[in-house]
Amino acid sequence: MAYMGRRDLVREGGVKLKKDDSVRVIAGKEKGKSGRVLRVDRDKGRVYIHGINMVKKAVKKRKTTDKAGIIDIEAPLDVSNVMILCKKCGPTRIGFKQDGDEKVRICRKCGEPLT
Ligand SMILES: [Zn+2]
Repeated sequence: MAYMGRRDLVREGGVKLKKDDSVRVIAGKEKGKSGRVLRVDRDKGRVYIHGINMVKKAVKKRKTTDKAGIIDIEAPLDVSNVMILCKKCGPTRIGFKQDGDEKVRICRKCGEPLT
């Protein structure tokens, strides 16, 4: 796996986001909002972002102590509709840099590591 051409980068590039990333929504009804990634669904290419894309969900009462009714939960967004936020540049694309044995995510605009 020595070859690291652009094709590899693209193929691998489904989901580069991670839990706790700060992201900006760039498309859809939540466009312009920012939030923190709660969960990444790599198989489906979707992300759950705290407080973004809330939907009502009915919950059933299972135990007497449970509350039944309607709760608000985050619905996932397609990863293509969100961009990671660089502390310097704002919304940006994710690049990669080899740092020893580790592959580090960097901002494609300024080259700073994305943490
Ligand atoms: Zn940057």
